[in-house]
Amino acid sequence: MIYDLIIIGGGPGGITAGIYAGRQRIKTLLVTKEFGGQMAKKATEICNFPGFPSITGIELMEKFVEHLKCQQDVEIKTAEILKVEPFDSAQGKKNFIVTTTENETIESKSVIISTGADPRPLEAKGEKEFIGKGVGYCVTCDGPLFKNKVVAIVGGGNAGFEAGLFMARYASKVYILEFGSSVKADLQNQEDVKKSDKIEIITSASVKEIKGEVFVKELFYEDQISKEIKNLKVDGIFIEIGSQPSTSFVSGLVDFNERDEIKVDFETFATKTPGLFAAGDVNVGKYKQIVTAAGEGCKAVLAVYDYLRINKLL
Ligand SMILES: Cc1cc2nc3c(=O)[nH]c(=O)nc-3n(C[C@H](O)[C@H](O)[C@H](O)COP(=O)(O)OP(=O)(O)OC[C@H]3O[C@@H](n4cnc5c(N)ncnc54)[C@H](O)[C@@H]3O)c2cc1C
Repeated sequence: MIYDLIIIGGGPGGITAGIYAGRQRIKTLLVTKEFGGQMAKKATEICNFPGFPSITGIELMEKFVEHLKCQQDVEIKTAEILKVEPFDSAQGKKNFIVTTTENETIESKSVIISTGADPRPLEAKGEKEFIGKGVGYCVTCDGPLFKNKVVAIVGGGNAGFEAGLFMARYASKVYILEFGSSVKADLQNQEDVKKSDKIEIITSASVKEIKGEVFVKELFYEDQISKEIKNLKVDGIFIEIGSQPSTSFVSGLVDFNERDEIKVDFETFATKTPGLFAAGDVNVGKYKQIVTAAGEGCKAVLAVYDYLRINKLL
């Protein structure tokens, strides 16, 4: 069986691509580790997806998946992809072999990568050791475990401020540590944080080490102005310093920028390898949202349809 298209990723980018592929009657397989992507990790409200003034990420994801499952020409598979490789098919066409971590190989005439991003680690001493023992990357997943405890959020951007506001509902005290001399969160988030008497912001803080016994007990940071090493007694630390794209499995087939994001043609979402497209947070691009990932998923499929038709592959 050779698919016309394999979509890798079940977040807003991949799911939208799947819906459009179904509408175009493209024989498609959507493969994903799990459905929902980053939005499924957001149990708090999403207030900026058109048509839904307020909805949780989990509810929105359920609606996306329900919509995807209406598409007759789209099969769904739960698996992690390890490798994508082009090869010359018996018919002299350029196809792709997609390999899962279970070593299953699947053939397709085109591929859309929409594997989004994972949280970026801080790379401070002790961070890895205490993952799941006080160090976390998703407040909506683990935050409620820190009821009446003291937590630190590392990162003073929107994600850090939103995490801080979420944690203020549970924790007795929340520190937000920002590496730069000023925070990067937007004004609305800054105003909301100011209203909370539980949240304290510390700027110019470079986190150096996390210490504890079985669980986290202390965080050490360098005050970048005085160069003094200071410590905070905390029970939990959430890292909110951005994300890193899940793109390692296409090395060699695409060009990356310095953040390992895929460079695409923004008209067609094509990569440098013919037949290989990318959509959503995996791509170079400053503004990463559910609606932008969905938009890229739509455009990538329409470009795949043209690619298959022009190359007489349909
Ligand atoms: C805490 C938080 C809050 C946010 N809040 C908002 C908000 O309020 N509004 C908004 O618009 N945006 C918000 N965003 C951003 C938004 O969630 C992302 O921009 C969007 O989810 C990107 O979609 P995507 O499909 O590109 O990638 P993702 O959502 O990251 O989905 C990637 C998918 O690929 C799968 N995958 C990854 N690697 C593999 C592999 N090797 N093999 C198979 N499958 C794989 C994953 O399982 C996942 O299903 C938020 C993000 C975070 C982290």
